[in-house]
Amino acid sequence: MADLDYEGFWNETLIQLRNDLREEEFSGWFSDMKFLHARFDDQTGEINFVVGIPSAFHRDKVRSHYQNTINSKLKEISGSEISLTFEIIGRKLDKKEEITPQNRKNTESVIEKTTKKKEKKEKHPQMRDDYIFDRFIKGDNNSFAVNAAKAISNNPGKAYNPLLIYGGVGLGKTHLMHAIGNQIYENSDNRVICITSENFLNEYLDGLGQGKMNAFKNKYRHTDVLLIDDIQFFTDKPGVQEELFHTFNALLDAKKQLVFTCDRPISELKKFSERLISRFELGVKADLQPPRYEERCAILRSVAHTRSVKIADDIIDLVSKNISSNVRDLISALNNLIAYIELVGEGKPLTVDIAQRHLKNIFNAPRQSNLSMDNIIRVVAENYGLTPNDLKGKKKSQNIVSARQLAMFIGREMTDYSTTEIGQDFGGKDHTTVMHSINKIKAKLLTDPSLESTIESLKRSIKEFSAKY
Ligand code: ADP
Ligand code: MG
Repeated sequence: MADLDYEGFWNETLIQLRNDLREEEFSGWFSDMKFLHARFDDQTGEINFVVGIPSAFHRDKVRSHYQNTINSKLKEISGSEISLTFEIIGRKLDKKEEITPQNRKNTESVIEKTTKKKEKKEKHPQMRDDYIFDRFIKGDNNSFAVNAAKAISNNPGKAYNPLLIYGGVGLGKTHLMHAIGNQIYENSDNRVICITSENFLNEYLDGLGQGKMNAFKNKYRHTDVLLIDDIQFFTDKPGVQEELFHTFNALLDAKKQLVFTCDRPISELKKFSERLISRFELGVKADLQPPRYEERCAILRSVAHTRSVKIADDIIDLVSKNISSNVRDLISALNNLIAYIELVGEGKPLTVDIAQRHLKNIFNAPRQSNLSMDNIIRVVAENYGLTPNDLKGKKKSQNIVSARQLAMFIGREMTDYSTTEIGQDFGGKDHTTVMHSINKIKAKLLTDPSLESTIESLKRSIKEFSAKY
């Protein structure tokens, strides 16, 4: 709640009151009011607005005649119970400074001004403070994305807008997006909202359910920077897609910065509204590719350095050679070794042999024979907006054939089934068809580096799905 535009809520309340009241009534009692500041009690979650008012006479009149109306308007607009305290400030408002609904655009709120005086801002509640540019290794695999992200941070709303960062799982999308947010938040008074698609959806549903849609719209359409993570999550959710479309337009019209992440290219988003896709297509797209060997070594060195741990070059080499598909797994292998070093201490130095034994399970992830082919087929089909029967059937359209080949390849990788058994599960196909499919994917992997992370991401979804069903 601490990041909301409180003064915006107050000004919106005045605008609505003005519409409801006669002009003389409004200007007699409200036009000399001045929003001073908001107090937010972290413990109780209560919000109190302190509003300046010319005299005790004004205050008493407003309290007895208008308090209920103001409170219910504020609640409707902000979605929260907000109490009001009036402070007598006399009639000394300069005409220019007078707070009227017309100058609501002047949203340099008192809260922001007081924050500015502090040496360092408080941590932004929605962003990880370790996800910064200094800790993001740039290489050939991500240089455009990093350059675009930095340009945006220095010039929000003016450089690349909107920016879509896409790439497979664990390749740094969230890190890079938070780095943009952290830098803007640190260096300017721009309001930054950073949210996962899941939380955006939940807030939207809350807004619908509890009649707080105004508060939701107010929050998202009056920010300077909006960062939304993992928009593939909106697949097949038309209500929230519609809301996102309007938020998108409102912010873009006002030249506010938008950044999104997605685990696949926009063109591969299925069950997504056409007009939303075309909005994304208008923006700048930057992909993150899996890091190559040199980049993997650099990332490991950088993480070890931040953790103040020394890791020998041959160990860095071992890990980099064995984990190639994503940065998250790379770092978690390193964390594993760091835990070992911290546990064993100086007594037993970490050798390549020990590291190899220690990471055996990660290096050779065992095949899981408990996974069913049906689950694999279901997850892959769903990912491409197809049905399991499409994959099991004989249709030869390009998208079906690719998804079918991918599912067969993953089936062979994740289970102990033979190619004959896999063929049976795909509607009774011959084992040579399965082998042909697997070879096709192997060949594609050589030319399309993003396929590897797509496969990793699918495998993860399959594991998650299988754990549930
Ligand atoms: P994604 O959102 O794409 O799934 P994350 O942003 O969560 O990936 O990154 C996974 C982990 O890898 C995080 O700990 C992140 O800090 C780290 N990471 C990813 N890319 C890099 C990079 N280029 N340099 C340093 N760390 C990285
Ligand atoms: Mg992420």
